[in-house]
Amino acid sequence: MIIDGTRIEPETTLTGDVVVVGAGPAGIVVALELAGKGFDVVLIESGSESFSQDVQSLSDAGELNPDLHAPMSIATRRQVGGASVIWGGRCVPYDPVDFDYRPHVSDARWPVSYDELTPYFQRACYWLVCGRPVFDAAMTDLLPRTIVPNFPEGDVQTTSLERWSLPTNFGKEYLQRFRDSSRVRLITGLTCTEIVCGSDGDRIDHLKCKTLAAKSVIVRANSYVLACGGLDTTRLLLASSRPNGQPVGNHSDHLGRWYMGHAEGVIANVHFSTPPRETVYDYVKDIDGVYVRHRISLAREFQHQSELPNIVAWLANPEVADPRHRSGALSFAYLVLSSPLGRLFSPDAQRLSLTGAKVPGAPYGPVQDHGSLRDHLFNVLRDPASTGRFIAGFGGQLLLRRRPRVPGFFVGSATNTYPLQYHGEHVPHRESRVTLTDIRDSLGMPRLAIDLRFSAQDFEGVVRAHRQWDDYLRRTGFGRLEYLFEDLEEAVAQRIGGGFHQIGTTRMSARPEDGVVDQDLAVHGISNLFVASSSTFVTSGQANSTFMIIVFAVRLAEHLRTLLRPRRVTPASAVIARPRE
Ligand SMILES: Cc1cc2nc3c(=O)[nH]c(=O)nc-3n(C[C@H](O)[C@H](O)[C@H](O)COP(=O)(O)OP(=O)(O)OC[C@H]3O[C@@H](n4cnc5c(N)ncnc54)[C@H](O)[C@@H]3O)c2cc1C
Repeated sequence: MIIDGTRIEPETTLTGDVVVVGAGPAGIVVALELAGKGFDVVLIESGSESFSQDVQSLSDAGELNPDLHAPMSIATRRQVGGASVIWGGRCVPYDPVDFDYRPHVSDARWPVSYDELTPYFQRACYWLVCGRPVFDAAMTDLLPRTIVPNFPEGDVQTTSLERWSLPTNFGKEYLQRFRDSSRVRLITGLTCTEIVCGSDGDRIDHLKCKTLAAKSVIVRANSYVLACGGLDTTRLLLASSRPNGQPVGNHSDHLGRWYMGHAEGVIANVHFSTPPRETVYDYVKDIDGVYVRHRISLAREFQHQSELPNIVAWLANPEVADPRHRSGALSFAYLVLSSPLGRLFSPDAQRLSLTGAKVPGAPYGPVQDHGSLRDHLFNVLRDPASTGRFIAGFGGQLLLRRRPRVPGFFVGSATNTYPLQYHGEHVPHRESRVTLTDIRDSLGMPRLAIDLRFSAQDFEGVVRAHRQWDDYLRRTGFGRLEYLFEDLEEAVAQRIGGGFHQIGTTRMSARPEDGVVDQDLAVHGISNLFVASSSTFVTSGQANSTFMIIVFAVRLAEHLRTLLRPRRVTPASAVIARPRE
């Protein structure tokens, strides 16, 4: 059932077995999983089914460094579906190495192991609509095994795969389930502004919520799950107090600290000495019709020996905005994206970075020399074959909205030379943090000061990984890297930024003194308050966050089932059945 929160009578009290706050991917999965297990769930969502600037601005930060952090207006989405309304759709799990104790990365330890999480991978793939949980081409005969033929897998590997969800807009994909469900009430247009503890401080008593018109609603349940996104979850905790005056979850001064994203950019081209036509540079469709892409990674043991953070890379396009690439397809894409029509085809973050703007944390840009319109038009005309292929292939798919939709486009290189885009671990940094400012949003909630920090270790780690890739390619005779900058660490530092993956500010820990939530995602010392978010992750790994967010969301729902007694259990088949287009 979907209820428009703005129509609820003021001072109403809503009740359920579980209240979930935030209808992004995490909240939607927890809510629907619990409903399938027979619980009555109230899902509170600040936004509605469509975009509203007034609601969106509730997430704006009070302070941030625009050179290092993307504006919250493009890094979050206050709408049913959360940031999945505008995300890219890349699905990647964490690696076993991320759960190993690695003193060179962090002295913090994950309180869960990789093996405890893999049983939830299949279910996460189901919610993300990204096929089956095969993330290594060595595990299947149905995909090309390596990026170039016969690549010798050793310290450097090219069998690692990322899977691409449609991209799944969780708001659209699961809306009908909410409409049909008698177990979940999705309340839209209602923002949780405070978590209120009972007098002992060890249980939550209720939540205070408000509509945009400041109408108050109380929500009460046995258990509470915060799924407001990495930063808004932390903000809600910081803005709520225990009876002793401490912010909820800040028993050990970790709340808001350890804020991480990823290091991303290009500092080198990779040149392969193998036949150019045999390079797997593009997406490949797997047996389920889902697009996958190969990545270059470093073996687990090798990372330990070399004391490297976890980092991967993939073959990228030249900067679309720079016409010196001479590609008709890329120039055509640039012309469309930089025209008023561009908004129809691409979310702001992607469109702005593809057209050369500086967007911290986004995969492309900034580009100093955009060339002239004439240069791009000239490319389109002198390279009609590539332009035509692009329009008929990628463009056609976008217009016809066929599913699964190819997530992007890549152009082949006749010289077998590709920009190498890295995506690497942001080493945990205690002073990288968010705090509350005195600036308040229209509902009276304090806005965040976002102080995202990187360190020399992050820049140096990226460069050392490149040296290892280069060394390995040269030793095996498969190619080499060609560096694009003299001062590589400086180039990484110039390019680094974040905001799109919001990791670490409610970190998980076995002991209360080491973090905010325990291994079951319960806030230490508060038995009925849980967090479903990438903010609970102890390290950032090389993976984009959403796949593991869903893994933990499914696991949390399973944990809550064992804590609370369901009234009626829906048969598993009813939960799993999905109408396919
Ligand atoms: C442009 C872009 C591209 C991305 N690409 C990728 C990608 O390719 N792969 C990947 O893994 N990740 C990607 N991400 C990140 C991904 O979108 C997030 O990891 C994911 O959406 C997080 O899910 P969530 O449910 O935890 O939070 P969110 O998606 O942020 O959802 C939180 C929800 O909570 C609601 N909310 C917030 N505060 C309150 C409150 N106080 N009361 C009630 N409701 C509230 C919000 O309105 C929102 O609906 C991308 C993000 C962006 C912005």
